[in-house]
This record gives sequence, C-alpha cells and structure tokens, in this order.
Amino acid sequence: MGFGSLKWAVTSRPDGNTPKLQPLGEFGRIRRFFAPLATSSGALGLTDDAAILDLAPGQQFVVTTDALVEGIHFLSNDPPALIARKALRTNLSDLAAKAARPVGYLLTLSLPRSRDDAWVEAFATGLGRDQAEYSVTLLGGDSVSTDGPVTISITAWGVVEQGKAVLRRTARAGDLIFVSGTIGDAALGLLAATWRLEGLAPADSAWLADRYRLPQPRTDLGVALGPLVRAMMDISDGLVADLGHLAETSGVDAVLESARLPLSAAAAAVIADHPELFTSCLAGGDDYELLFTADPANVEAIEALGRQLRVPVTAVGRIVARLQDASQVRVIDADGQTVEIAETGWRHS
Ligand SMILES: [Mg+2]
Repeated sequence: MGFGSLKWAVTSRPDGNTPKLQPLGEFGRIRRFFAPLATSSGALGLTDDAAILDLAPGQQFVVTTDALVEGIHFLSNDPPALIARKALRTNLSDLAAKAARPVGYLLTLSLPRSRDDAWVEAFATGLGRDQAEYSVTLLGGDSVSTDGPVTISITAWGVVEQGKAVLRRTARAGDLIFVSGTIGDAALGLLAATWRLEGLAPADSAWLADRYRLPQPRTDLGVALGPLVRAMMDISDGLVADLGHLAETSGVDAVLESARLPLSAAAAAVIADHPELFTSCLAGGDDYELLFTADPANVEAIEALGRQLRVPVTAVGRIVARLQDASQVRVIDADGQTVEIAETGWRHS
C-alpha cells in the first residue's frame, strides 16, 4: 500500500527535551490505520473522492447501515477493538438476513479529542480481524471530531443474485417459523456484563457476556438458506418484537411456542435459578440470530443445512392468517396457554 513506512513523529516538548508522540491527525490516522484495511483495488487506497465497484451481470447490491453511539450501544470503557467488531457485525448480520454475501463497507467515525491514536489503532485492528473472518473490505469513509460521544456509522453492502434477496414481507400462513443458534444469550449477557446476574458460574457468565459484546453474523447460513426460506430478518430488537415486525409487514400473525425456544447451556443454567428471566430471553435484544419462515416441506433440507454449517436451526412456531385486532405475535406455553409478554423488546427511539 505504501503506507507501511509511515512512522509516528517524535518531537520535543516546549518545556524540555522529553520526547512525546505527536498525534497523527485525521489524514495521518487514515493513512496509517485505515488505508491498510482498504484491500480492494476499487477503494483506491482511500486516496480518492469515492470508491468504484464492479457489479457482475445478474447480481444486485444489498445495502444496509447501522450506527452505534457511546453510552447507548456500548460503554465508554469497552475495548475499542470489540466496539469496532460489533459495529461491523451488526451490519453483516443484516446482509446475512437478506441472503447476501458481504462485499465492503463505509465507515464514518465521530470522535472526541479524548480518543487518542492508540484507541483508533486498536479500533482499526478489530476491524481488520473481522475483515479477514468475513471477507469484506473497507471502501472509504469519513472521520470528524466532535464534542459529543463516540459515534460509529457503518454502511455495508453485499451482493446477491438478481431477485434472490430474501425479504421480511413474504411470510405466508402455514409457514413454520425458525431461529438460528440460541436465543436470549445477549439479554442475559448484558446482565452478566453489568454484574446483575448472581450465583452464575464464572465461565457461563463470561460466555454470556461475550455473546452480548460480539455477535456472530450467520453469513454462510443466511446465504445458503436463501432458496429454502420465504421470509427472513435478523433478531436485533428481541425475538417477540422482531417476529412482530416480520408478521406485520407480511400481513400475517405468528404463534410462538415458548417451550421450543433454543437455549444455550449457560442460559438454561440462569433460567433454572431465575425462571422469571425466561421472558428476557423471549423479548431481549442483540442476539443477531436469523429469524425466518419456510414451507414445512423444506424442514429437512433446512435442518440438514444447519448440521452441515454447525449452526443449530430450530422451529419455534408457525405463521397463521391475520386476525383483525389481535396482536401479531401470540406466545403459547407447552400446554397451549397464551403467555403474556410485558416487555416486547427494544424500541427504537
Ligand atoms: Mg436487522
């Protein structure tokens, strides 16, 4: 790239001879930390006004964006590498939910002056690690200074064959409802990360907190599920709330069987001691698992795919015809009795 030889400048302080590191400044940070992440030739090494992308014939772009704000979506003292990876991964999860293969992303960073070059370096290192894991590249961005909180905005895109992106609004009565992975770990993980879960084995506590801090976008599963599913989205606001979004936009209702909810071993241990937290698993946000519906004829193919990719997929309910004036999601227990869910997930404000 030609940026590898750039060195930190060392100057003398005006009051003596002690050398100190001179801040790199915006352009220095871009050259040193971010240009090496722009591995696609279309990014032009972040030296031009815009990136230039090829789109193969018969393919479509799928584009999504997500912003994270300090104090709201992450804590001020969270490790910068983890903040960066969560910011990127929430976008990759949205692409996976459209059955799109990720390609690249734009990054806009609003940073207070208190975030020094070491913070930015660690942030960029986190991005680089996930770029390698998910085969995406930085294509450009902007960096501004602010008196407000750290704000990270990422716009990501992927590609999908023409007409093959999976939408939310296409669920039909008779479809089965599935989720990937395990549900509720992130809601319990937030409690664990903020020391509000007592009596839990340290290993379980750490595992749950990690599920909150570092989502696992289901990229390979989402792409492979494309031809087998009718409607799909990712779970960011909580299973009940997001299933409500899917049902509403599809013009159908959903019946969710709470006894089928796939729980991790750590979550099951929490629920055994605190049964009241089961509602948090149904309603809590930040799981970033896939929620999808499919024709029952595809169950075996879907389950085989889950085994092949080593991601559990679990049928948790069914889509039914819309009942006027009813809530879009009815949660029932093992006896078929309706369960009232007081908290229905995170609301966007
Ligand atoms: Mg989403």
